[in-house]
Amino acid sequence: MIKGGANNRDVKKINRIRTMRSIFACERISQPELAAKVGNSWPTVLQNVKELMEMGLVQEVGTFESTGGRKAKAFAPVRNARYAVGLEITQNHIGAVLVDLSGELVRFERKKRPFERCDAYAAGLAELVKSLLEKEGCPTETVLGVGISLPGILDRDEKTLVYSHALGLRGVPVEEFSRCIPFPCRFINDANAAGLAEIRGRENLHSLVYLSLSNSVGGSIFTGGSLYVGEHLRAGEFGHMTLVPDGRPCYCGKRGCVDAYCSAKVLSALTGGNLALFFDGLRAGDRTLQAAWDEYLAHLAVAVNNLRMIFDCDVIVGGYVGGFLSEFGAPLRELLARHNTFEPDSSYLKFSRYQLESSALGAALVHIESFIQSL
Ligand SMILES: [Zn+2]
Repeated sequence: MIKGGANNRDVKKINRIRTMRSIFACERISQPELAAKVGNSWPTVLQNVKELMEMGLVQEVGTFESTGGRKAKAFAPVRNARYAVGLEITQNHIGAVLVDLSGELVRFERKKRPFERCDAYAAGLAELVKSLLEKEGCPTETVLGVGISLPGILDRDEKTLVYSHALGLRGVPVEEFSRCIPFPCRFINDANAAGLAEIRGRENLHSLVYLSLSNSVGGSIFTGGSLYVGEHLRAGEFGHMTLVPDGRPCYCGKRGCVDAYCSAKVLSALTGGNLALFFDGLRAGDRTLQAAWDEYLAHLAVAVNNLRMIFDCDVIVGGYVGGFLSEFGAPLRELLARHNTFEPDSSYLKFSRYQLESSALGAALVHIESFIQSL
């Protein structure tokens, strides 16, 4: 884990963070269990525990009975020691989440509010943050910050929204979104944020491809547990991989892109723009919708198989359509098993854990993670 050049301070920091994560992964943990989990001697772990307790992040919660007669101390996370807020801005909605220090979702709200580039919209975002904190009674001093997920490409220092098709913006300072919010703000691309939410807590998952099937198709790539952004910060723009040469027109101006076949709009367009109605129709046995679904899955299977062949890791499918795959995705698994060159299997395909909250959640997690890294 520790790279060659790590000095003493790095080692201490890594151990403290590992101690914190180990405690936060449980409801309560005994002294010997904790030492075993962290992989350090108890005196080293104890020093870290003491420091975390002084910071108010960990508490002692009684004792565990142990077989030797001596009682083992037990520790627990103080999950409400800090909070972070996440906002997801889309063309027509704003999603908002509150997460605690363990990254658990405390509250999720989503409201219809078409994007407008104006003062009232920016003030509305701040109002939403304020009401979310008030509803949960979070003291402002416990708030690490607000993460804002945007449907577009951001520059490397998170200062400019370089391009957003969904919002119709190009080269806009992100400060326009955060100027009324009285907390530190961070910005992140929506699919990258959703990928972060999905990879959280999936231990042993170091590499991952996340494919988002919402009103546009996007995605994110994680290698070695970190986000891969590419040379021009456009990595994971899976929506514009060419699926069909000279195929259907894509909003980007090209033809045959994955987006033109796999966006949620392909389905919701058949039911008046309402995706839930499309799946209601499938449940009710509507033949036209079933044929559209079969065609959709045939295209999606090619896209997902390509991702598997390129990245050789698990592929999580999320976004608006991803939320329906646990119920309707069995044929996708069969198609993938057929496409798979190496084994007649599609167990690498995972369905997302979240429906509409993933991007806001991932944006909030940016603050939680940087707080943990600052310990
Ligand atoms: Zn395209």
